[in-house]
Amino acid sequence: MSENTFDSLLQEDRTFAPPAEFAARALVSDPDVYARAEADPEAYWAGWARELHWSKPWDQVLEWNPPQARWFLGGKLNAAYNCLDRHLDGPRRTKTALLWEGEPGDRRAFTYEELHAEVSRAASALRSLGIGKGDRVAIYLPMIPEAAIAMLACARIGAAHSVVFGGFSAESLRDRINDADARLLITADGGYRRGGIVPLKRAADEALTEEGGCPSIEKVLVIQRHVDGAPVGGAVMTEGRDLWWHEVVDAASADCPAEEMDSEDLLYILYTSGTTGKPKGIMHTTGGYLTQAYATTKWVFDLKEDDVYWCTADVGWVTGHSYLVYGPLANGATVLMYEGAPDAPDRGRFWKLIQDYRVTILYTAPTAIRAFMKWGAEWLRKYDLSSLRLLGSVGEPINPEAWMWYHEHVGGGRCPIVDTWWQTETGAIMITPLPGVTETVPGSATTPFPGIRADILSLHGEHIPAGGGFLAIRRPWPSMLRGIWGDPVRFQETYWSKWQGETVGSGDDTQPGEGVYFPGDGAKRDERGYFWVIGRIDDVLNVAGHRIGTMEVESALVDHPAVAEAAVVGKAHELKGQAVAAFVTLKEGLEPTEELKREISDHVVRKIGAIARPDTILYTADLPKTRSGKIMRRLLKDIAEGRTLGDTTTLADPSVVAQLKDDYEAKG
Ligand code: ATP
Ligand code: MG
Repeated sequence: MSENTFDSLLQEDRTFAPPAEFAARALVSDPDVYARAEADPEAYWAGWARELHWSKPWDQVLEWNPPQARWFLGGKLNAAYNCLDRHLDGPRRTKTALLWEGEPGDRRAFTYEELHAEVSRAASALRSLGIGKGDRVAIYLPMIPEAAIAMLACARIGAAHSVVFGGFSAESLRDRINDADARLLITADGGYRRGGIVPLKRAADEALTEEGGCPSIEKVLVIQRHVDGAPVGGAVMTEGRDLWWHEVVDAASADCPAEEMDSEDLLYILYTSGTTGKPKGIMHTTGGYLTQAYATTKWVFDLKEDDVYWCTADVGWVTGHSYLVYGPLANGATVLMYEGAPDAPDRGRFWKLIQDYRVTILYTAPTAIRAFMKWGAEWLRKYDLSSLRLLGSVGEPINPEAWMWYHEHVGGGRCPIVDTWWQTETGAIMITPLPGVTETVPGSATTPFPGIRADILSLHGEHIPAGGGFLAIRRPWPSMLRGIWGDPVRFQETYWSKWQGETVGSGDDTQPGEGVYFPGDGAKRDERGYFWVIGRIDDVLNVAGHRIGTMEVESALVDHPAVAEAAVVGKAHELKGQAVAAFVTLKEGLEPTEELKREISDHVVRKIGAIARPDTILYTADLPKTRSGKIMRRLLKDIAEGRTLGDTTTLADPSVVAQLKDDYEAKG
């Protein structure tokens, strides 16, 4: 193996064809869609764009001056209009758009007509506060309907939103507000999480007043979170700066014409999860973003008029933007939104929600699936999950064992699984099965969505037909990021410089490296041509000259019946260059013995070979994760190599790394 590529270790032979009944009714069951999109990608995307409402059609589909793309040039539209107004002419007017349940069990529901009225009032209120086209609005909310309403209200008047996850600290909120120069902050007195109240307004006050504060913020709009008519309370209002949402919005007019936006006008800024370092303010514009969010929601989730669609992601992440708000609402879907934790009041909460709302499509993350595995399948058996017909996964590579568990226990063996690879930067799904077409393999995101040109390349840009290398996107796509807010240099360097000056591709199929996007992930291609994302390039292990992706070793660990979750990092080793350091969480109730360590270690060797044998295994109750649930291997590497920890501001629970550091130093 050369230094350019990666060793491919994991073998997976289980395959799952789309169930016949599913395929018979699927929106797409003809594999020809791929060839048709390839024949003329611009015409194909234009076909999707035409399914949206444009107040003025575009003059040109694409202008591509790497790394700057512009889609649907000259076209005018409004994203909120497309998510709401255009559904009001037919039967969708009275269709349920949003079903919501709070953690304490309180419920609200909105038809398209009602959601339209709410968004319009909120948009009028924002306008009355002097907010309009070209402004940025920071949104720091729990998972309540107003989170979606506030986003759509911004979109309606042409202000870009910057949603900051409600679990972030005052400091993280302040950094993001200041980076984007937001004029308005929309927050709430509090939200519910695991039985407690998250005091968002208090954190917002701290963000705005301490350590230089947020000079760009003029007003703060505060939503009062009620349970059974009683406000959560606790918000201290600052005269002249803070306003109650219910006072301003309820009094505002429901007649608020949508601003006509250029296809390339900014729709939002969203900061990445911060798994690899300081978050980047990713910019998404209107026409191309909405087109791909719409198209992928429809085809990947096989979305039908009578579906009840539940995406468990928080609106603070890109998945919450594209697949809780813009994609499903642009499709006129019925969307479920849930405020709280999966284990409140007990570990059956998700399954109860699916039963109560007759959810048909579930889209969640591997981190959640691994938690459910750890808790055990008994929790699911108490509920009727027969309404489910399709399952989705996003956020990290899904270990084959977690995939199988999802398939068997959640999907009852009958639901196709779509493992969707994409990122904040790509705006929408890029690599995924089509559930009525693709034969799936546990752990593989399979193939690029029609119209997307993904490839696996060597360090110098050679096309790798089979084996491991760098994931690359070789053609612009509509929902691609248009930049990093305020940092064009980082934009160029992070995503567009990997193959600069190289010729990418092979044979007749080559192109200049300048126009090839590097997402930062390593991947391999199997004999079928399927893609396997095997981890971040930054996390790749180099053991005795073998470059190994984290996913394969972790999947071998998780494959052991005692292991619930695992993370591996390379740790400096005199002879091998690096040795494998493994951090392992056991399933509940199991004894963490030395004997079991040997067994787990042997299991890895049996599964993928001696090269991957862990040098050390450390048992841990929890792994360090971002607030979006992704394992932060760079911190584990700092621990394994005895360094001071890097940026920890995006960690979900800083005590986890502190504990691990102590344990590692004691035993490691
Ligand atoms: P940062 O870029 O700030 O370090 P992040 O990359 O975690 O944070 P996101 O944009 O939320 O922020 O995550 C995208 C990344 O998540 C992808 O680049 C990939 O590493 C991983 N990912 C998402 N979905 C999948 C999937 N289905 N399979 C494998 N990896 C996935
Ligand atoms: Mg990233």
